[in-house]
Amino acid sequence: QCAIDPKSIVTDACTSYAALDTLNADIAPSLHDLTEATDFFSYYRLNLFQKTCPFWADESAQCGNRACVVDTIENEQDIPEIWRAEELSKLEGLKAKHPGRQQQKERPKQRPLQYQLGENVDESCVLEDDDECDTRDYCVPEDEGAAAKGDYVSLVHNPERFTGYAGESAQMVWNAIYKENCFTSQAPAAARTASNKDLAAKSLLTVFQDYSRNQLDSSTEESLDLFDPAILDDQCVEQRAFYRIISGMHTSISTHLCYDYLNQTTGEWFHNTTCYRERLHKHPERLSNLYFNYALVTRALVKLRRHLEHYTFCSGDPEQDFSTKQKVLQLTSTLASSPTTFDESLLFKTDLSLKDDFKNRFRNVSRIMDCVGCERCRLWGKVQTAGYGAALKILFEFDETKNGENPHLRRTELVALHSLDALKWFRAAIAEEDAQNAKVATDKK
Ligand code: FAD
Repeated sequence: QCAIDPKSIVTDACTSYAALDTLNADIAPSLHDLTEATDFFSYYRLNLFQKTCPFWADESAQCGNRACVVDTIENEQDIPEIWRAEELSKLEGLKAKHPGRQQQKERPKQRPLQYQLGENVDESCVLEDDDECDTRDYCVPEDEGAAAKGDYVSLVHNPERFTGYAGESAQMVWNAIYKENCFTSQAPAAARTASNKDLAAKSLLTVFQDYSRNQLDSSTEESLDLFDPAILDDQCVEQRAFYRIISGMHTSISTHLCYDYLNQTTGEWFHNTTCYRERLHKHPERLSNLYFNYALVTRALVKLRRHLEHYTFCSGDPEQDFSTKQKVLQLTSTLASSPTTFDESLLFKTDLSLKDDFKNRFRNVSRIMDCVGCERCRLWGKVQTAGYGAALKILFEFDETKNGENPHLRRTELVALHSLDALKWFRAAIAEEDAQNAKVATDKK
C-alpha cells in the first residue's frame, strides 16, 4: 500500500495516501456536482478533428468502433447562449479591441481592460486564446474562445471509458509520450531548446523514427520497460516528476476504461476487476503515480484560490454563475484546509533551463494527442493534458502575490481530480474477491 518512490515529492507515503483518500471522500460530492451539473465545467471546446498528427502519418490508425466516437454538439441552441458563435460575433466590436499578447503584457500601463471590453462584459466571457503558446504555457492551447474553430462537446455525455482502441496505433502514441521523458542523451538538444513548434515537432519526429526502428519489433512491455522508474534511479527530481505525471495520466486512463468496460458479447457496461487487476493492482507504482498527480492538481487549485475569488464563471446565466462560483470556492476552501502533500518548491531549484526543457516536453505530449486514432480517447487525452498543463503553469509560473499577470483558468482544471473514486471501488472489489478466493482455498483444504 505504501510502495512509493523514496525520492517522491508526495511526502510521507502512508500518511499522504490516506490523507488524499480522505480528502477525495470529502470533496467527491461537491466535485461531482460541479463537473456534472454546471455548464461551465461540463461543456468543453476543443480542436478535435481539425489538427493532423504532427509527428507521423498513420491513416490506418483510425478506430472504427462506435465507442470511439464523440458526440459533438451540432445544434447551437444546445450550447449556453454566451458561447454561441452568433453571440460571440455580436461582441466583434469588443473583440476587435481585445488586447493581443504583447498588449496584455503591457496591460498595467493601459486603461483597465473592463473599459476596453465594455462595462458589463467580463474578460473571461470573451477572452480569445491565441494559437500561439504563451511562454508560460505547458500545453498547446485548444482555442477555447475562437468562434470559428473547434467543436463543443459535453463531457457529461461523452464519458471517458472503454473504447476498444488498442494495438499498434495506441502503442505508438504511448511510446512517443514516454519518449518525451528522456531528458538526457537520448533526446536531441533541439527538443530541449526548441522555441518554435516546427523545430520541436521535427526533432521529436526524428527521435520517434529512431526509436520505432529500434523498438517497434519488440513487445510493448519491453519497449516501455526502458522507461521503468527502477532503472531511472539516477534521474533528477524534475525528470522523475515528469515521468510520474505521464504514468499517472496513463493510470487514470486505464482506471476509467476498466471501470466503464464493455462486454462486447452482451453489450453491457460493467466494472472490470480483471482489467484493473492486470493493468494496475499488480503495479503499485502506477497507482502511486496517480496519487502523485492528485496531490499536484490539488496543490495547484489551492494556489489558485485567491485568484478564483475574483474570477467570473461565465455561462450567461447569472444565477448559475453565482452558484458555480460558490461551489468552486467551497471546494478550494476544503482543499486548502487539508495538509499539503505536494511541495513544488523542490523542483527547478538549481537549473532553470531545465524548466524550459520540461515545459517543451510537456507541450510535445499535448501535441502527441493529435495522433490518437480514437476520437473519444483523443478528447480525454486532450482534456487531461490541458488539465495537467494548467496545473503545472499554476505551480511554476503563477505568483500568488500578484493579480494582473497571472494565467487565467480554463474549464479543464478540475477534470484530473476524478479518478480516485474509481480506485476506491476497485480496491473494495479486489479485497472482497481476494477474501472469497482465500475462503474457497481454505474450504478445499
Ligand atoms: P497500454 O495501456 O497500451 O500500455 C502499454 C504499456 O505501457 C504496458 O504494457 C506497460 O508496459 C506500460 N504501462 C501501462 N500503464 C502504465 C502506467 N500507468 N505507467 C507506466 N507504464 C505503464 N482506451 C480506451 O478504451 N478508452 C480510452 O479512453 C482510451 N484513451 C486513450 C488515450 C490515449 C492518449 C492513448 C494513447 C490510449 C488510450 N486508450 C484508451 C488505449 C489504452 O490506453 C491502451 O493503449 C489499450 O487499452 C491497450 O492496452 P495495453 O494492455 O496494450 O496497455
